[in-house]
Amino acid sequence: MVADPLMGRQDAAEALGLVAEAAGPYLAALPDLPVRDAAQAHLLKDLDGPLPEDGEGAPAAVAELLRIGTRAATHSSGPRFFHFVVGGSTPAAQAGDWVTSLLDQASGLWLTSPLAARAETVVLRWLRELVGLPESFGGVLTPSATFANLTGLACARHWWAARHGTDVTADGLAGLPRMPVFSSGYVHASDRKALQLLGLGRDSVRTLTRDDAGRIDLDALDRELAAAGPAVVIANAGEVNACDFDPLSDMADLAEEHGAWLHVDGAFGLFAALSPETAHLVRGVERADSVAADGHKWLNVPYESGFVFVKDPSVLGRAFGGWNAPYLPAPDDELVNYNMLGPESSRRARALPIWATLRAYGRSGHRAMVERHRDLAVHLGRTVEESDDLELMAPVTLFVVCFRYRPPGVPEDRLDELNRRLGAELVEDGRVYAGTTVYRGVVALRPAIVNWRTTEADVDLLVEVVREIGGRLLDQ
Ligand SMILES: *Cc1c(COP(=O)(O)O)cnc(C)c1O
Repeated sequence: MVADPLMGRQDAAEALGLVAEAAGPYLAALPDLPVRDAAQAHLLKDLDGPLPEDGEGAPAAVAELLRIGTRAATHSSGPRFFHFVVGGSTPAAQAGDWVTSLLDQASGLWLTSPLAARAETVVLRWLRELVGLPESFGGVLTPSATFANLTGLACARHWWAARHGTDVTADGLAGLPRMPVFSSGYVHASDRKALQLLGLGRDSVRTLTRDDAGRIDLDALDRELAAAGPAVVIANAGEVNACDFDPLSDMADLAEEHGAWLHVDGAFGLFAALSPETAHLVRGVERADSVAADGHKWLNVPYESGFVFVKDPSVLGRAFGGWNAPYLPAPDDELVNYNMLGPESSRRARALPIWATLRAYGRSGHRAMVERHRDLAVHLGRTVEESDDLELMAPVTLFVVCFRYRPPGVPEDRLDELNRRLGAELVEDGRVYAGTTVYRGVVALRPAIVNWRTTEADVDLLVEVVREIGGRLLDQ
């Protein structure tokens, strides 16, 4: 019997029912699951096997996927995944994402989905309002901050080439000098990747730093911009080691004075605008030419979710519009074809989970989450400072706590190795996830607290497990 989707039309509801049935117990267990359960790793091989000639039908296939997935997944949407900057998924955003799959909209064109296009226009407006960007900025949703950086920097490249009399979308970079790009030492790998993809070269960024943390040397930036001609400045609204911010207003002043394009990478840091206690960190972002951010980090919507805003909305259409007809929506144009404003053509309705979470929790709900994460980070920072076996490496500004294990009596020259092994063992252990970095020349942990589920008990468990594993390593 051939399993053909046309023969099994009623299977969809049954298969989706299986997912809904599994969701309840899975989500209820999530707070107590280890981040990764090594004992379930053997299940990964059950994914493998020859391509079936005759399929087993939707309910059986989905049941199998759920059996493997709910056990062998990294439970990073739970409360104790502090490695990198990995957000959770609010209940509304997660369900909104299911709606996206249910409706399966072709979201590139107004014609194929007025629903998706209108939802995108609405959430872009809500996001601008949420983070305090002017209503006049254009925008587009992207799969991630990497794509948002790519989009913003593609606009910068278009602007820069035009300053040299070239339409880069038609003619490419041939014959042009190298585009000057300046940043601090905080510049994220994804900005380099974007420059690499744009044919500008990842090493085109000159980092102008004044200390070993990578902070920007504003005098050097002033001098370089004065000499460079049209140039691009990448400002970093939140770096990943300690959540430090470049001085956006000062960089905006210099960009303005020298006629440079200012791109702000605010992947997670843009959301500092939500709280009066941290809003000063992003002051000046409203003067940027382009701003990139992530939804799947601090907004806590599922992957893949990013967005970019551009001061001159027409540049998006010029940089990404179609052949001989750059797409230039009028400001009041509702019939937007978002596939003309960004790197994607066909795309999913990623506005829907954002719409759902902002509608469900509003500004105050998201502000509360941002403030809770900062409070938890401050709590962890205080615990570290009060411990004689832990050392805080940088002030707590937002949600990262950069610290190392430093028990009394261990010589300085053994600490890097000790902390590196500690980081590796933490991940191996799986109860909590945190990773190491090299900060100002020393190996340190840098847990990031950005999941709506995380509580003080989860943060305290991190300290407990660090001590337990650290102690064991000392005894070896
Ligand atoms: C995570 C991050 C990015 C890249 O975001 P993705 O969503 O992983 O593509 C860019 N910049 C900064 C500062 C980040 O933290």
